Amino acid sequence: MTQDERTAQPTARSEELFDQAQRIIPGGVNSPVRAFGSVGGTPRFMASASGPWLTDVDGNRYVDLVGSWGPMILGHAHPDVVAAVQAAAERGFSFGTPSGGEVELAAEIVARVEPVEQVRLVNSGTEATMSAIRLARGFTGRDAIVKFAGCYHGHVDALLASAGSGVATFALPDSAGVPRSSAGETIVLPYNDLAAVEEVFAARGHEIAAVITEAAPGNMGLVPPLPGFTEGLRRVTREHGALLISDEVMTGFRCSPAGFYGLEGPYAAGPADLFTFGKVMGGGFPAAAFGGRAEVMALLAPAGPVYQAGTLSGNPVASAAGLATLRACTPDVYDRLGVVSRAVADGVADALGAAGVPHTIQWAGSMFSVFFRDGAVRNYDEAKAQDTDAFRRFFHAMLDHGVHLPPSAFECWFVSAAHDDEAVSAVLEALPAAARAAAG
Ligand code: PLP
Repeated sequence: MTQDERTAQPTARSEELFDQAQRIIPGGVNSPVRAFGSVGGTPRFMASASGPWLTDVDGNRYVDLVGSWGPMILGHAHPDVVAAVQAAAERGFSFGTPSGGEVELAAEIVARVEPVEQVRLVNSGTEATMSAIRLARGFTGRDAIVKFAGCYHGHVDALLASAGSGVATFALPDSAGVPRSSAGETIVLPYNDLAAVEEVFAARGHEIAAVITEAAPGNMGLVPPLPGFTEGLRRVTREHGALLISDEVMTGFRCSPAGFYGLEGPYAAGPADLFTFGKVMGGGFPAAAFGGRAEVMALLAPAGPVYQAGTLSGNPVASAAGLATLRACTPDVYDRLGVVSRAVADGVADALGAAGVPHTIQWAGSMFSVFFRDGAVRNYDEAKAQDTDAFRRFFHAMLDHGVHLPPSAFECWFVSAAHDDEAVSAVLEALPAAARAAAG
């Protein structure tokens, strides 16, 4: 049987679960992109995962290129992490008191990202960015913040605004339920456009508490900062007494042992004031963090007046998973991520090229994404100008051939160090038919 002759897998059980879920969970999912909204079809309900493989409830096996949207850098159910989680769980699930594991996880982060002198653990990337924004506002006594179109920082009210229509225009909320007053303090600018940032600061610099940016944006597909862009943000914010927040929730500990900072920082004008982390540092459990200069972090309760708290923050099981994950991220792991990413991306480029499908692949370290268009992508408008129908056809052909891509054209593809030659070969074998499907 050739790849082209393969039939789609059985999906009866996933369909049954999705029907049931849609009756009792809004949209049938607990996070919107899982619903296959932009590619259509029934999301596959997973039963188990091991290394680079996912197995769904109908018994289909897939090479996983989602990696739980970033955390699974070591692959699924890595033995060191399983052992650490089991040992922690046996000691109790949550104490509501400080515990040693959270200190060790904080120390690991502080040791890796040099400008981070203190760190506060939270439960999600959303909490991390929300708290960093509050801290920046508390520190500066200002309300306005600048974010960039196409950058996602979680579902924080003030950060859901991404559809700004130009310099100095107050954004409208992207989501119903976000007060205009909240989104109204958010200025949305085009990514990689330093002139736009300078113009806004010239007019309103005294009102702006912080600029928040993804260290290398991965939520509009991967759009790395142009040379000098983040450096420029650092310079302008410093000149105007605003803070720079580098969101490393996706890039942190993945692009390098110290995240994207480890590849590009520190800038001549200095590092960011605050960093946010998530995904990899939780090893697949709900753990995230924000941290930075001690002088800024000192404003957090109980040391200072900026309130921030969490019943499960620094949870011992999540901390153990995160710590075991970070400790297992040896140089070999980063080497393997590079090798696997390159092999997959080269395979994609060859297959799409052979099928005549326009495409561009962009990188931040070993993180990459595939745009279904020609030419460099520098901002959200350019990212949106791609052939999402071609992606949809490509996605489903890959799924039918046992490769689970992120179900959106605007996402990074996440590999793990557990992607062995068998998994990589399975991806490469699936690509030609998917590329022909993409060609239409
Ligand atoms: N920041 C970035 C850069 C992200 O990619 C995400 C999630 O994808 C978040 C923040 C929000 O993290 P979480 O989904 O854990 O709330």
